[in-house]
Amino acid sequence: MPEGDTIWRAAHTLHRALAGRKVTRFESVFPKLNRVDVDQPICGRMIERVEAQGKWLLMYLSSDLILLTHMLMSGSWHIYRVGEKWRLPRHAMRIFLATEEFVAVAFNLQIAEFHTIDSLHRRDGFAALGPSVLSNNFDEGEAARRLKANPHMEVGEALLKQSIVAGIGNVFKSEICFASAVNPFRKVSSLTPAEAALLMSIARKFLRANVTHTSGNAIVTYTGMRRTTSRANPGERLWVYKRGGESCRRCDTRIESRKQGVDARTTFWCPQCQPIDRKILL
Ligand SMILES: [Zn+2]
Repeated sequence: MPEGDTIWRAAHTLHRALAGRKVTRFESVFPKLNRVDVDQPICGRMIERVEAQGKWLLMYLSSDLILLTHMLMSGSWHIYRVGEKWRLPRHAMRIFLATEEFVAVAFNLQIAEFHTIDSLHRRDGFAALGPSVLSNNFDEGEAARRLKANPHMEVGEALLKQSIVAGIGNVFKSEICFASAVNPFRKVSSLTPAEAALLMSIARKFLRANVTHTSGNAIVTYTGMRRTTSRANPGERLWVYKRGGESCRRCDTRIESRKQGVDARTTFWCPQCQPIDRKILL
């Protein structure tokens, strides 16, 4: 049976190969997964991150969809370059997910489920997840309190920590900090109550704006374009994410980027709009 660290390494490898890429093909042998794929297509979604939680591997896709798999005794995830020969036979394949550059194949899995953050939260073993930013009863005040309960963390790291609030990925982390005028490298302890509340209310606004709800609770995938600036031009849809070296849309200062946290996720920010020392603004 694969141990937690094996799964952690698999998740890490999958994350490095797939995060930030768009799914170009999806296949599985699980009828339940395929039904979700028909209703809410997997192709076109962004893979936001892959992480391990205990013996589980979680692949977070854009628009609040999580592929949850368990390795049990014999399951494994492999990553290949497109066209590379697989090390296990095709009949052992259970899930196949491709991006332009890489192919992720799950072999011999027995448990595979799609979840929203809310349904995952209700599943046995995942209750430790924080409240979902996308849920209808998301309480911004409670979320701000959960954030402030981690004073030692940097804001950019804390926003990604799913046990504080669930649903914020790496793109929105940078965008939320920019729109809140908070430097992502500040410690949570330095946040005023108003700043903590603003971060959470902007998080909710941005994430909800990027998901289209139809009748009931069904979530329909948007067409793959995240947007936070409200500008019509697709080239101007984000404030800072992946804009390192370009000029700030508000003040023309050069956008900076740096790896942050134990997972070394890249953070983007404007040093003028988001000074590290809040007092500069006062
Ligand atoms: Zn700026």
